[in-house]
Amino acid sequence: MELKSDANGIFIEGMKDSLELASYLQRKFKEEDIQSTYTSLTEEHINIARSEGITPLRKFWQRLNQTYKNIPPLRCERGCAHCCHTGVAATQVEWDGILSNIIAHGTDLNKVIERSQRTINRVRETLRSNKKIEQVDWHRLVINQPCPFLDEDHACIIYEDRPLDCRLVVAFRDQCRSKKLEHAQRGVVIEEAVGATVIAKIQHDQTPKFKRRKFKGVQPLKLLQHWLILWQDKNKKKK
Ligand code: SF4
Repeated sequence: MELKSDANGIFIEGMKDSLELASYLQRKFKEEDIQSTYTSLTEEHINIARSEGITPLRKFWQRLNQTYKNIPPLRCERGCAHCCHTGVAATQVEWDGILSNIIAHGTDLNKVIERSQRTINRVRETLRSNKKIEQVDWHRLVINQPCPFLDEDHACIIYEDRPLDCRLVVAFRDQCRSKKLEHAQRGVVIEEAVGATVIAKIQHDQTPKFKRRKFKGVQPLKLLQHWLILWQDKNKKKK
């Protein structure tokens, strides 16, 4: 596996799965570079976010957007939604950001749920089954089906607050037009090496003290369909 570039930008040749990507990143970036990026993304950006009166997560998204502006042009454009037909997972803090977006835009989450009833039902059935959660292949349950937040025009309705999962799958080349998901490549920026950890840290810092556990750099992920089920169940209880 090799990082290459051509007139269309950077691409990784030969990358087939995320484990390969993880080992590639470890070889590509020095541990101290990863550490210093992590420090700047957590401590510095969390402080800047506070001074600007925005959430640390929103600041982190701004930072990622900035990063993508500085690398060769992305081929992703509104209406191309090949990578929105797979399982997308989010942490609690990312889901909270999505909910804020939903409230700000007056989006009817019940309609979102209605539109994705098929995949939501599959996830619900699995949750009700006796299967061990860690043994379920969650992505397989929803693969090749549109993400709940994809609208009829193939645009994301929560775009500014889409989770890290979505932000790291990008196309630097024209290949995405072939409609094969594997042609979208994961963003090769140092944030990829630390992004999930930064989000985990932001979440950890936002968790009330009495609930905090020792920070281990990971936070539980759930499919977007799973978060929608939890939202729906919580709302039913309220009524
Ligand atoms: S959240 Fe938005 S960007 Fe991510 S998969 Fe869904 S529609 Fe696509």
